[in-house]
Amino acid sequence: MQKKNKDVSLTLGIDLGGTKVETSLVDPAGHLISSHRSPTQPEKSPDGGIADIIKCVRDCLGAAGKTAQAAGIGMAGQVEKDTGIGRFAPNLGWHDIPLKASLEKELNIPVFVTNDVRAATYGEWRYGAGKGCDDLACIFVGTGIGGGVVSGGRLLEGCNNAAGELGHMTIVTDGRKCHCRNHGCLEAYAGGWAIAERAQEAVQNEPELGQPIIELAGSIGQISALTVTQACSNGEPLALRIVEETVQYLAAGLVGIVNAFNPCLLVLGGSVVEGLSAYISAMEFIVRRNALEVAVEELRITTASLGNKAGVIGAAALARHSLLEAEELKQ
Ligand SMILES: [Zn+2]
Repeated sequence: MQKKNKDVSLTLGIDLGGTKVETSLVDPAGHLISSHRSPTQPEKSPDGGIADIIKCVRDCLGAAGKTAQAAGIGMAGQVEKDTGIGRFAPNLGWHDIPLKASLEKELNIPVFVTNDVRAATYGEWRYGAGKGCDDLACIFVGTGIGGGVVSGGRLLEGCNNAAGELGHMTIVTDGRKCHCRNHGCLEAYAGGWAIAERAQEAVQNEPELGQPIIELAGSIGQISALTVTQACSNGEPLALRIVEETVQYLAAGLVGIVNAFNPCLLVLGGSVVEGLSAYISAMEFIVRRNALEVAVEELRITTASLGNKAGVIGAAALARHSLLEAEELKQ
């Protein structure tokens, strides 16, 4: 059997989503030593889900032949800070799961649980597009919209550890129904699921203009945000209109973030942002025109640089940071 090297400088980052769990062993410079990814089955019980995570961690460590000092896990949902209880993970259908306690028992290392996009924000801040900047906001637009804010060199947590739900700011009073309990959230217009919904409605309202979009997707029900950006690149006028409206909604959200937090840097990431890369400058134009003058004086807008690794890199770095902080408190 391969001898394991005791290496206290390595921590694990775990990114738990609705369809997959990804684990990486990360060094203090943010480099990935090894990674393992496996599918999650939301229909499984939480116990089954936790067993999947543990297997993924063991496979990752086994491939590297190393041990880790701590693990950080980012999950899509709300987390109770000190206990590491997953309060609510809608994609997994989990309520009040003792994630920290269960993983610590099996892995025998300290485990720190956080929200997945907050972990990604931490990754971009420490190792990615936000490196060296102590006042930044990250917004990730994928299926949903989330983010995180670093202010004065501190990642904001909020009163109840729920800060950073940037997708759930109301941009249209009594607007479209969101997946949260509200109507008119930014996510309900510009999140991937909402772009798909708006496009499906648009092709039904204007079948002639919508035909090329339906053909591209295969059927109305299969139209996704990706279909819309692809159809837009093909020059389809209806897709172009949906994209232009989406840019307006996103820019409205960004104006709110910039006015509220006065970041030096706004980092935009996620699959929808990648699909709209040709429109970043248009968003920036609107933000600079509509936000308070003083709020944009020093503002830079850029795109995320760690891609889909931001979550694991950030979770591992947060674990290292939390471990050092806990050790300092003991002294
Ligand atoms: Zn909402």
